[in-house]
Amino acid sequence: HAKKNGKNKVVVFRDEHARVAAERYKIERALRGANFAAEIELLFQPQFDLGHERIVRAEALARWTSPTLGAVMPGRFIEIAEESGLIANITLVVVEKALAALKSWDDPIPLSVNLSGNDLLSDHIIARIIDKVEDSGLDPALLEFEITETAMMADTGKATRNMLRLSERGHPLALDDFGTGYSNFNYLRELPISKLKVDRSFLTDVGDPMTEKILHSLVGMARTLGIDCLFEGVEDEIQLIIAKRAGTHLVQGYLFGKPMTGMQLLCAVDEHNRVPLRQAGRNALGG
Ligand code: C2E
Ligand code: MG
Ligand code: MG
Ligand code: MG
Repeated sequence: HAKKNGKNKVVVFRDEHARVAAERYKIERALRGANFAAEIELLFQPQFDLGHERIVRAEALARWTSPTLGAVMPGRFIEIAEESGLIANITLVVVEKALAALKSWDDPIPLSVNLSGNDLLSDHIIARIIDKVEDSGLDPALLEFEITETAMMADTGKATRNMLRLSERGHPLALDDFGTGYSNFNYLRELPISKLKVDRSFLTDVGDPMTEKILHSLVGMARTLGIDCLFEGVEDEIQLIIAKRAGTHLVQGYLFGKPMTGMQLLCAVDEHNRVPLRQAGRNALGG
């Protein structure tokens, strides 16, 4: 209904601006009133080792069901939680629930949890995470932490020290969304990173020879550094072929499983990891 003249464009822009602000305010208000322990659930997305045809870890992803807004995806609430100083409460609940899941499983599937930059800038939050892991009595190697480069940008000194604290306790560290930020390589020099998670945008560029060369180089660099390299966002067979051609061993994506409940993850592991190595011919987790 917007007419094609300058004036109306401004109106449309202003409306859009107001709509975004209103939506933001609604989410922030719901976050402030939330009981995260009750409203946040974890889903788990398998990480698959192509070499051994095994699920080797799963990423815990937060799902928030607000009593007033209903289901809200992380893409809509994490950033707002960060900006309103509420992310630490979410992080602690996610860590608690990941530890509870690990404890409830007879044969725990190693998990990874996403940390925000704000978490890394708070010595207190890191100490509380470490305490929770200690109280659980679980092996810290079962809980990997994922951080993005942007998370590290604000105050690298402090963030680096807190990453080191986690690493010294035995937690593996992964660099998430690798390739989308800046100065990746400094983190590789300063931190004991054990895994690069190559951002899924690299796999949306199917058919671009330059992208394939970059992927190939990233895998080679990771191998030289003794770091695992995982490709995110493998959705179809063509992307899987690209991942294999680049030489990576670890993949995560809808082709291998969408984020699923703990029960579904146990079933997937049970079904998949039980197949003897030499019989494990198929790639995807049963379609
Ligand atoms: P991420 O850490 O990069 O997680 C991967 C995201 O990609 C997940 O979205 C996952 O569902 C999605 N994904 C996985 N495979 C595919 C695929 O094949 N195709 C496509 N199109 N998408 C795929 P989700 O769960 O919506 O989370 C989005 C982001 O929100 C996460 O990106 C992470 O940065 C953040 N997030 C999620 N849970 C938490 C949390 O507990 N704490 C913090 N700080 N951030 C979180
Ligand atoms: Mg992640
Ligand atoms: Mg990621
Ligand atoms: Mg991502």
